[in-house]
Amino acid sequence: MIICQNVSVAYQQQLALKNINLRLEDHAITGIIGPNGAGKSTLIKAILGIISFAGNITIDGKPIKEQRQQVAYVEQKSNLDFTFPITVAEFVSLGLYREVGILRRLTKKNWQQVAAALEQVGLAALGSRQISELSGGQFQRILIARCLVQEAQYIFLDEPFVGIDAVSEEIIFEILRELQQAGKTIFVVHHDLAKVQNYFDQLLILDKEVIAYGETATVFNKNYLGQAFNGQLYFGGDVA
Ligand code: ADP
Ligand code: MG
Repeated sequence: MIICQNVSVAYQQQLALKNINLRLEDHAITGIIGPNGAGKSTLIKAILGIISFAGNITIDGKPIKEQRQQVAYVEQKSNLDFTFPITVAEFVSLGLYREVGILRRLTKKNWQQVAAALEQVGLAALGSRQISELSGGQFQRILIARCLVQEAQYIFLDEPFVGIDAVSEEIIFEILRELQQAGKTIFVVHHDLAKVQNYFDQLLILDKEVIAYGETATVFNKNYLGQAFNGQLYFGGDVA
């Protein structure tokens, strides 16, 4: 379990997260929603230990720096370079760097792990392609494969469906559901409120502080969404 106690983050004196207290459920797919600038990416980065924060975060009772192997991360796609000359299999193998070390050669077993991860995301046939040849949806799937070789318990995805066609989104969500059923704990920063009720078991609504956290059926309502989105939201259809 991931536990955040009094977690705050400031960038140049500007508070991005204010006093976050959370005990995040295991073995669920949790959605993280909130307006632009709500601190969603910042919260993920704090839990991953890649930015500094005040307060305390533990993963299975231990500090983050002892648990880095247990957390895998698919960053917001806009931060990535698709044109880098590297094959799909090589790219996925980068997920092993913590285990293998950056300058060491991969073993046969490592390449088998890479092949298994590509199989899991349905791209076994594309291992020797250049990543620049992939569609947006395929690229998102190899980002997930790169997480899978790490064999982390906790997987964080930051807006994985942005710029991806509906069919790829469905395939990717199916992969996440399979991972959850295999016992992984998955967090997805997400901006399409129409899908929230279908996709997520648990929901965290964030706006610099925790607006609500709990079962999606309980917290996905006009009251909490209104608080988080400050009236900027169009309530169409089926929000309770
Ligand atoms: P979200 O992912 O919910 O859109 P972020 O976590 O990216 O929000 O950002 C939260 C706030 O912190 C925003 O106001 C953003 O401008 C600011 N911020 C994020 N990263 C940095 C940074 N590296 N330096 C300065 N301000 C930042
Ligand atoms: Mg973000």
